[in-house]
Amino acid sequence: MTDTLLRGRLLTFHREPLGAEDTEAYSFIEDGAILMRDGLIAAQGAYPDLSESADGVPVTDHRPHLLIAGFIDPHIHFPQVQIVASWGRQLLDWLNGYTFPAEAEYCNAQHARAMAGRFCSLLTDHGTTTAVAFCSSHKTSAEALFAEASDRNMRMIAGKTMMDRNAPDNVLDTPQTSYDDSKALIAAWHGKGRASYAITPRFAITSSPEQLEMAGSLASEHPECYIQTHLSENHDEIAFTGELYPDARDYLDVYETYGLLGRRTLLGHAIHLTEREIGAIAQSGAHPVFCPTSNLFLGSGLFDDAGLRARGITSGIATDIGAGTSYSMLQTLNEGYKVLQLQDQSLHALRAFYWITRGNADVLGLTDKIGTLDAGTEADVVVLDSAATPAMALRMEKAHSLSEELFALQMMGDDRAIVQTYVAGVPRKGVEA
Ligand SMILES: [Zn+2]
Repeated sequence: MTDTLLRGRLLTFHREPLGAEDTEAYSFIEDGAILMRDGLIAAQGAYPDLSESADGVPVTDHRPHLLIAGFIDPHIHFPQVQIVASWGRQLLDWLNGYTFPAEAEYCNAQHARAMAGRFCSLLTDHGTTTAVAFCSSHKTSAEALFAEASDRNMRMIAGKTMMDRNAPDNVLDTPQTSYDDSKALIAAWHGKGRASYAITPRFAITSSPEQLEMAGSLASEHPECYIQTHLSENHDEIAFTGELYPDARDYLDVYETYGLLGRRTLLGHAIHLTEREIGAIAQSGAHPVFCPTSNLFLGSGLFDDAGLRARGITSGIATDIGAGTSYSMLQTLNEGYKVLQLQDQSLHALRAFYWITRGNADVLGLTDKIGTLDAGTEADVVVLDSAATPAMALRMEKAHSLSEELFALQMMGDDRAIVQTYVAGVPRKGVEA
């Protein structure tokens, strides 16, 4: 049994803040502490109380920095680490020009494992302790990512992408191989340590009806798994989907028809939705995932957060690397704020920090494990420096409340603001693969 006590300014959320001054939604302790034991949070509270009961336990003093739950990124593409910031036009050109050639390399197990190490390090260097990742269509890519995350005891949700048409041969599978490979990966990894499997049809365009039927079979045989895909990111994508599935009522109906819509379904983007689609998402309990840096980079459109919320839909927020341009969930919040500003919507700092921690955990149904600093949950903790750069330090001189401090972090913060990232109680910032 190894105990460690972290000391710092502790912030954790109990529920979604209803407004910028909703102090009931969170706990903030100026001189707080977290007792970590065997990868879990054994206790948290005021430092004087905890230090008394944890006599003799080594203390890591992070004051004056903030201690907050590790960030969760619910939509990211592992094999796109080397094509971030590649010049292109819009979604379909970008996929053909950059994405597919890069993903083709992940049939090589050595390359996949080397990149998995770099990917996991980049995540933790940016404060992200859990990701929901698309791998390439090759089984090797998912094996590499699960193995790497397992070695680091990092909570990872991932899946081998299913795609059997409208892409180069070297990234295509078949309905049968996609089913067999997914099935084998579920058996090998789902529920093993901190790993979970996501059944991953890339999107309607790259899957034949036969393949989506196989994906539906996987979903009904493994209701414990997640399902991740893309929905209505771009107008050309929607039009092409309509041509490929002429009998579908709309884009979402393609997924519904094959039994892929439910509470554990994550729908990347979900920007250009019809009234019927919004109703069906609300009824199914599925979760759109807002990817602001990606939506701006590819010129895809503006995510209607308030409109979806008004219908009772719970959305996640994510980077979507590599069309997204930053691994930082703080920078994701920054761009998310601006996307909502353009629609007369707002993203105040309390909700923003709730969203990338407990909010995204709620989308995944995992608030009992991650997303808070509650006793009994996994010890994924981020240490944040609000004055990490000269410009931030200058701003902090005039920040007089927690909300103001968090908002400056939301707008100006990136990996430089991440002092340390604890993954299951182990410091991982700056650890090379
Ligand atoms: Zn994506």
